[in-house]
Amino acid sequence: MKVWDAIIIGAGPAGCACAYDLASAGKSVLLLDKAEFPRIKACAGGLTMKTVRALCYSIEPVVRQSIDRMVLEERDSSRIPVKSRKTICVMTERSELDAFCLAKTIEAGAVFQRIQGITGIDERADEVVVTTQDTVSRGRFLVGADGVNSQVRRMTSDSPWFRKAFAIEANIPRHALDEDLVFDFAPVASGYGWVFPKRDHVNVGLYSLDADEKLNRTRLSTYIANRFGNSARPANFIGQHAGFGAAQHHIDRDRVFLAGDAGGFVDMLTGEGIYGAVISGQSAAAAILSDLNQKALAKESFVRLTENLRQNLGIAERIATSFYANPQRGFRAMKMPLLRSAILKGYADGLNLSVLVKTARRLLPDRA
Ligand SMILES: Cc1cc2nc3c(=O)[nH]c(=O)nc-3n(C[C@H](O)[C@H](O)[C@H](O)COP(=O)(O)OP(=O)(O)OC[C@H]3O[C@@H](n4cnc5c(N)ncnc54)[C@H](O)[C@@H]3O)c2cc1C
Repeated sequence: MKVWDAIIIGAGPAGCACAYDLASAGKSVLLLDKAEFPRIKACAGGLTMKTVRALCYSIEPVVRQSIDRMVLEERDSSRIPVKSRKTICVMTERSELDAFCLAKTIEAGAVFQRIQGITGIDERADEVVVTTQDTVSRGRFLVGADGVNSQVRRMTSDSPWFRKAFAIEANIPRHALDEDLVFDFAPVASGYGWVFPKRDHVNVGLYSLDADEKLNRTRLSTYIANRFGNSARPANFIGQHAGFGAAQHHIDRDRVFLAGDAGGFVDMLTGEGIYGAVISGQSAAAAILSDLNQKALAKESFVRLTENLRQNLGIAERIATSFYANPQRGFRAMKMPLLRSAILKGYADGLNLSVLVKTARRLLPDRA
C-alpha cells in the first residue's frame, strides 16, 4: 500500500496551507475532507493583510472588497473612526475563498478525496494509519486541520487545553455603498457585534467568549433590527464555535500535528482564525519537510515554528481578559493615536503583540 508523505484531514485554510507547501515541495499529499467544495463555512471571511501576505498565491480573484477604514463603537454609543493609508483587511466569501485555495492546492499536486469521517488513527514508530469508513491510508505524518470539532484532536488527545467561543452571522442586502466596517462592543458581553461590507451585501454577526450570552438567531435578528431597521431582511444565519488554547498546548505527538481551529490557533480578542490557520498549517508543512529531508525531528520543528504565533495568541488571551473585563479602558487606549496605530498595525500587519503591550503600558498608567 502507498505510504503518503503526509495525510491531511480538513481542506479549510489550515489544511490547504499545509498541503500546498508540501505538494509544492514535491511531497505526496493526501488531503481528505468530508465536505464537497464549494461548501458553506460559518465565517465573516475577513482576512487581515498579514494573512493575505502569508498565503503563497494571490487571492485577488475572490476578494469582494478592500477595507482601509473602520469604526469602533463603544457601549455609551461613542464612535472611534479608524482610517489607514494602507489596506487593513480584505473581505471574502468563505465558500469562494476555500474553493479557490483548494483548487490551487490540487494544482500544486495534492490528491483530494472526500470521506465520511475518520474511524481510526494509529500512530506507529514510522507512520500513521488512518482508517475511514471506506479506506485505509498510510502516511509518514498526519495533520489534523479538521476545524473546531476536530475528530483528529479528539481521537489523539484529551486536550484539556482546548477552549471555545461562539459566533453567529447573517447577511443583509447592502443599504449604502459607503457603509463602514464596524466593530460594536455594545450588544454582547465579552465580545462584539460586527458589520462587514462585502460589495453587494453586508455580513453582520455577534461573537462572545461568554457562554451565558446564548447567541442565537433571535438574538442576532434583534440586533440587526435595532441597527438596520425591521426592513433589513437577514438571511443565511449560521453559527459555529472558534477554538483557542494553542498557547497552552504542550505538543507531544511525533507524527500527528494539529493546525488551525483544531489546534486552538484562533485569536481570542478578535476571533480572527484564518491567520492562525494559515501559519500553523504552513508550520506543520515546514516541520514535516525538515523531517522528511532528515534535517530535524518534525515535532521539534513544529514547536519551534509555531512558537511566535503561540506566544502572540497567549498575549491576545491576556489582552482579551483585561479588555472585556473593562472595555472602557480599552477604548481610552484606542483614542490615543499612537496606540491606535500600533494596535491596528499589530492586527493588520502582524507586529509582535508584546511590542504592542509594552507601548500600551508606557502610554496608559495602571489606573487610567
Ligand atoms: C461566525 C464566525 C465568523 C468568523 N469570522 C472570521 C473572520 O472574519 N476572519 C477570520 O480570520 N476568522 C474568522 N472566524 C474564524 C475562522 O472561521 C476559523 O478560524 C477558520 O475557518 C479556521 O480554519 P481551519 O482550516 O482550521 O478550519 P475550517 O475552516 O473549519 O476547515 C475545517 C475543514 O475540515 C473539514 N472537516 C471537519 N471534520 C472533518 C472530518 N471528521 N473529516 C474530514 N473533514 C472534516 C470541514 O469540512 C472543513 O472543510 C470566524 C468564525 C466564526 C464561527
